[in-house]
Amino acid sequence: MRTTWVVGNWKMNGDLASNAALLESVVKSIPLSDSAKVAVCVPFPYLAQVQSALSNSAVVLGAQDVSQFEEGAYTGEVSAKMLKEFGVSLVLVGHSERRSLFGETDVVVAKKAKAALDAGLMPVVCVGETLAEREAGQAQAVVLRQFSVVANEVGAEGLKQSILAYEPVWAIGTGKTATPEQAQEVHSWLREALLELGAESVSMLYGGSVKVANAAEIFSQADVDGGLIGGASLVASEFLSIAEAAR
Ligand code: 13P
Repeated sequence: MRTTWVVGNWKMNGDLASNAALLESVVKSIPLSDSAKVAVCVPFPYLAQVQSALSNSAVVLGAQDVSQFEEGAYTGEVSAKMLKEFGVSLVLVGHSERRSLFGETDVVVAKKAKAALDAGLMPVVCVGETLAEREAGQAQAVVLRQFSVVANEVGAEGLKQSILAYEPVWAIGTGKTATPEQAQEVHSWLREALLELGAESVSMLYGGSVKVANAAEIFSQADVDGGLIGGASLVASEFLSIAEAAR
């Protein structure tokens, strides 16, 4: 039985006042026991605020990035152990914005996933092809390459403690969503790769312009176990309706 997740990725948005308002609405509407798990991945400076707002709630606290290093002279980095201290349970690694804007390679992403696992955090490993790669017929090769570098680093046991997220780069923040069939096709490639490693129970999320209007159909695909939600996670009513669609 795979766990269904709806994970909000706030990206570099929010402030103390708007976070408090958003979380108040989200927390009071998410039942303590729910068939779908709900998480929010927030900017580092707000971890303490959000940890406190989420206490006694079913909403899980996540971060958006983690250092590949354990500790030491790495200015600006945040370690997995530090995240743990603030009650973080899961952390995005390899988001396409990290890969494309901040130069994270497959190897760095794999090391981040390993660092998260070593500290007892659940990495949400993001993979996805660009539009140019899709148009060149390379989507499968790209996604499976990104996956396999992580799989080699963390092994099947590590994968079983992870979540995978397929986020086609061309669908992120563009309003263009992959069709449910396109999402399912990529998820099925990944599921097959997981199956070969005996890790087919890993939850796999779709991300990229998920909205209230398209969530239910995407989530109903055989190999889609929920979503990674950017823009719509900043609006309580939208995020809650998307969580509802995952139940
Ligand atoms: P949008 O939902 O804003 O397209 O962002 C998707 C995403 O990148 C989530 O991590």
